Amino acid sequence: MAKQLADYIWFNGKIIPWKEATVHVMTHAIHYGSSVFEGVRAYNTPDQGTCVFRLQEHTRRLFDSAKIYRMNIPYTMDELNQALIDTIVKNDLKSAYIRPIAFFGDIGMGIKVPLDAEAEVSIAAFEWGAYLGEEALKNGVNAGISSWNRLAANTIPTGAKAGGNYLSSQLISMEARRHGYGEGIALDTNGFISEGAGENIFVIRDGVISTTPKTAAILPGITRDTVMTLAKELGYEIREENIPREAMYLADEIFMCGTAAEVTPVNSVDGITVGKGGRGPITEEIQNMFFGLFNGKTEDKWNWLTPVYK
Ligand code: PMP
Repeated sequence: MAKQLADYIWFNGKIIPWKEATVHVMTHAIHYGSSVFEGVRAYNTPDQGTCVFRLQEHTRRLFDSAKIYRMNIPYTMDELNQALIDTIVKNDLKSAYIRPIAFFGDIGMGIKVPLDAEAEVSIAAFEWGAYLGEEALKNGVNAGISSWNRLAANTIPTGAKAGGNYLSSQLISMEARRHGYGEGIALDTNGFISEGAGENIFVIRDGVISTTPKTAAILPGITRDTVMTLAKELGYEIREENIPREAMYLADEIFMCGTAAEVTPVNSVDGITVGKGGRGPITEEIQNMFFGLFNGKTEDKWNWLTPVYK
């Protein structure tokens, strides 16, 4: 059984004890990777208590991922938003990482998915700290370019957050750690920078902030969108453009971002120190504005926070 991280899980419409939220070994998703999921965070804010960050956008992306795979989710977006909130409340969590997943379960063997197949859906919520470590949030992570490329555009769509895509992420992450790096960065099949194993990437030089485009085999992250909005608010120019590998070696600052990784500076790439090393000043400014959304220092002009305990 998966390690118990909380007391309850929402599973196919009911909240049940963690231990009872199990599936059969013949579950389709285990054999064929047929799942789509989200990673969402809730933060304990001073003014509104526990709030889910960008709930609507995450649920929308879950349904988008399902649409790509013609997966029928037998709930509405509103129902899943409510279920996610109920799961946090039932587990009495102040802050949480939340994992909604829709998957094909007992739909029979084989890759001939019935065209009207219904997905099973579960939502787990539990406490989870800084994904790349507290130390990395402050001093940066040492990253290495992976020998594994991200998926080519006409193979598996990276715009869907599907379970099967994470075989690529696992290869990138394992290789990075074997080589002594904290995280791996992959190139796309054209040789340009794509993204980290589970993070989007921003590169800064001479005050201009660039990030890899949606056509560079990335998952277009919700944190990426948040960072782009916040950086524009701070007056920075943001470019979505192809980034060659050497731009990482010549950058003044680099950071990675994602729901799990939040905003994490990159200290070095392939053993070459980025700028002066550690956390650069623009990265720190963006990081402060990002975490400010949750500690009350950044006004939530965009209605990104959904209070859990009203
Ligand atoms: N790329 C990949 C491969 C990811 O797994 C994630 C994390 N979901 C991201 C980017 C960042 O996406 P988000 O900011 O929406 O969490």
